[in-house]
Amino acid sequence: MLFTDLPLNPNILKGIAELGFEKPTPVQEATIGQLIEEDRDLIGLAQTGTGKTAAFGLPMIEKIDVKSKNVQGLVIAPTRELCVQISNDFKAFSKYIPKLNIATIYGGASMDKQAKEIRSGAQIIVATPGRLMDMMRRKMVKINQVNYTVLDEADEMLNMGFKEDIDGILEHTPQDKCTWLFSATMPKTVAKIANSYMENPLEITIGHKNIGAENIHHIYYNVNERERYHAVKRILDFHPNIYGLIFCRTRRTTQDIADKLLKDGYNAAPLHGDLSQMQRDKAMQKFREKTLQILVATDVAARGIDVDNISHVINYHLPDDIESYTHRSGRTARAGKKGESIAIVSNKDIHRIKQIEKKIKIQFDALELPSGKEICEQQILRYADKIKRVKINENELAKLLPSIQNDLSSFSKEDLIKRIISIEFNQLLDYYEKSKGVGSAKNKGQKGWAKDNNHERFFINLGYNKGLNKGGLLRLICSNTNLPSESVGELDLYNDFSFFEMEKSLAEKIIGDLQDKQYDGKDFVVEIASKDGKRSKGNSNRKPTSKKRNQRDNKRVKRKR
Ligand code: ADP
Ligand code: MG
Repeated sequence: MLFTDLPLNPNILKGIAELGFEKPTPVQEATIGQLIEEDRDLIGLAQTGTGKTAAFGLPMIEKIDVKSKNVQGLVIAPTRELCVQISNDFKAFSKYIPKLNIATIYGGASMDKQAKEIRSGAQIIVATPGRLMDMMRRKMVKINQVNYTVLDEADEMLNMGFKEDIDGILEHTPQDKCTWLFSATMPKTVAKIANSYMENPLEITIGHKNIGAENIHHIYYNVNERERYHAVKRILDFHPNIYGLIFCRTRRTTQDIADKLLKDGYNAAPLHGDLSQMQRDKAMQKFREKTLQILVATDVAARGIDVDNISHVINYHLPDDIESYTHRSGRTARAGKKGESIAIVSNKDIHRIKQIEKKIKIQFDALELPSGKEICEQQILRYADKIKRVKINENELAKLLPSIQNDLSSFSKEDLIKRIISIEFNQLLDYYEKSKGVGSAKNKGQKGWAKDNNHERFFINLGYNKGLNKGGLLRLICSNTNLPSESVGELDLYNDFSFFEMEKSLAEKIIGDLQDKQYDGKDFVVEIASKDGKRSKGNSNRKPTSKKRNQRDNKRVKRKR
């Protein structure tokens, strides 16, 4: 189905085409035609990122009579940020509809200005419950002509204690209006609202398959309780291009983590209810513009925020209720993109991972935090990339170059590279040298499987320099041996070579399957590594499997020495 198959007027189609929408999402397919053709109540259960705003926005806009200046459509949403977002979406949908006015009503901003917006003929109001009630009491807004009311993120509004305000608002709307309620979950409290204010509602449930959910990689790191913050730093350092959200449970932790990150030189800012509206606006604006890389937020403050291209969601603590995990992770991998949702857990809260997996039917990967060495490599690679891509201002530089060249002429190219890298990275290298101890809580002092007698550590003479990364190595092993990726244990990559662990009983097969194979057009060698983790020098551990391989191997070893 395409949007053009729906009973939408050409001006709306033009607006959404401009946004790049072609096909309605499942929730949109289920609501738009129905609600336009028949005035009725509706309950929509759908996860974040499924396109609910257009699901209620397009039929509402379609139904508005622009010749009238009465408030005909009312959208209630839990937070200011969400209201602003819905309002902006509505304005984009109705860009080509002349005389359609939308007023946005929320706390912390001038009430007079908002009242003026309404008076100038807004047919649609998007509001937070608290401020709307306030303005109704002051007779600054009249909602007795409303035909369509939307309760967006109803579960969250109730969580936030807006029950009374919602009751108050709905009581002042006409009896025969339509109510469209959207919620990610259906707790009793929401069902109660539905029962008391809706008549024979059409119920639609869009399963757990939200646009993004399938593309989210869920990961957890098990660390010691007091190493949570260090774990976050490692994750951020390992992803220098991160554009992410860090969720904390309380306002205080949110502020605390943001402060620490800021002090440690990260491009981070907090977002929580104790900040002034201005501070919150500023943070959101910078985050949207991507001048801010990391937003540290409480669940409530970040609720429903729709920012595209968020690469990572980090759960500093897991949320108290499991459903919130869905909301948090749904901030990434929107509109078909990929994303990672990372949970940092200690032995105290690791059991919650299982609960979440069961309840929302996802699978976490248990990973080890990136090592200091891996992080430094990532950072240096990014820096090298920056050097490659930097724009050079030839004219201005020409004036300065002679004296610089004179000063640095005694250094070789290699030396210069080392020095440039050291300026940038000494601090980071020092930090990771000192913090070697930080790591997984479960394997303290014991690295990997190879310590037990059933597993073997293998050496391969390929590493980052040959374009290999962990995924690439895993694929190389699995595709040649036909073994599942679970059969591969720890992967240790270095520049020129790498190690991987597998079951000892498979050693012969693995070495056999991987011989005389190529990676990226090049030969490589796999053999059993010695117990101290280095590659074995002698042959004692190794069953020679082919003459050719041995010859090649010897040649290579000679060259190395
Ligand atoms: P929800 O309210 O369910 O969390 P939103 O309405 O905020 O989801 O939509 C999520 C994202 O998907 C937004 O960036 C929106 O612009 C985009 N989107 C919504 N519908 C479509 C569509 N039909 N085609 C492409 N993108 C869409
Ligand atoms: Mg929404």
